[in-house]
Amino acid sequence: MILAGSSEATALARALADMPALAATLSLAGRTANPPPLPLPARIGGFGGVDGLTQYIREHAVDILVDATHPFAARMAANAREAASLGGCRLLKVTRPAWAVQSGDNWQEVANMSAAAEAIGPAPRRVFLTIGSLQLDAFSGASQHHYLVRTIDAVPTHRLADAVFLEARGPFNPDSEERLMRDHNIEVLVTKNSGGTAAEAKLEAARRLSLPVIVVRRPNAEIAGITVEEALALITAHHVSACRGV
Ligand code: NAP
Repeated sequence: MILAGSSEATALARALADMPALAATLSLAGRTANPPPLPLPARIGGFGGVDGLTQYIREHAVDILVDATHPFAARMAANAREAASLGGCRLLKVTRPAWAVQSGDNWQEVANMSAAAEAIGPAPRRVFLTIGSLQLDAFSGASQHHYLVRTIDAVPTHRLADAVFLEARGPFNPDSEERLMRDHNIEVLVTKNSGGTAAEAKLEAARRLSLPVIVVRRPNAEIAGITVEEALALITAHHVSACRGV
């Protein structure tokens, strides 16, 4: 079972869809209103913590749990580690490399979202927030700023006083990102260090415009993951061994 929520989960699911003997399934948190078509049978919604996930693993005889959640989904990652151990299944952690600062970048790295809000500074600025919708309230105290907020789905509730909302799903390209930042006279970009290519264009655009970027570091950055290709190789090898009774 693949714990989804990242482009890596989708890529792995597409590859496993061609191997029906593996009986692969997906699990989605259900946060996105219109997820792209799913290549595998899926269940949607939380399990009810570690106990619920452990029970699910046992009841469905899950052999391999693939944590391919987003690098910032820290709670699910921790639950997956514990439940895989309790439920007696193998855990694979799939992740993508973090973005690294490049020549011409003006990054300030911070530990969390409240630190990001503080790092914008006391003077009013025009801020491009690309942090998803869940932690917008961290910026409600920094109400001196104007925010351009881009999310995949509409933001249901928020406490931002001066904000323009934009709904869009990546991948984005550097030219359109640069145009967007110019059109909105953006002075600073705030992002999580999600890594990957789909959302990377904003960093290139900020570099071109010499804009400062506040980058929220990943939780559990010390936990190394494997690539989609490596996961696929391990899953197929496991299946071959199981079929041979090894
Ligand atoms: P989180 O804080 O780590 O998890 C919160 C709870 O959501 C979990 O305890 C679990 O509920 C449920 N959950 C999360 N992923 C799930 C999955 N794949 N299948 C079933 N239940 C899941 O996660 P989050 O940051 O809220 O992210 C939620 C989802 O959005 C994840 O799938 C993640 O990959 C995706 N996502 C997150 C971000 C981000 O920046 N955080 C960005 C893009 C996509 P129970 O305890 O009840 O099982």
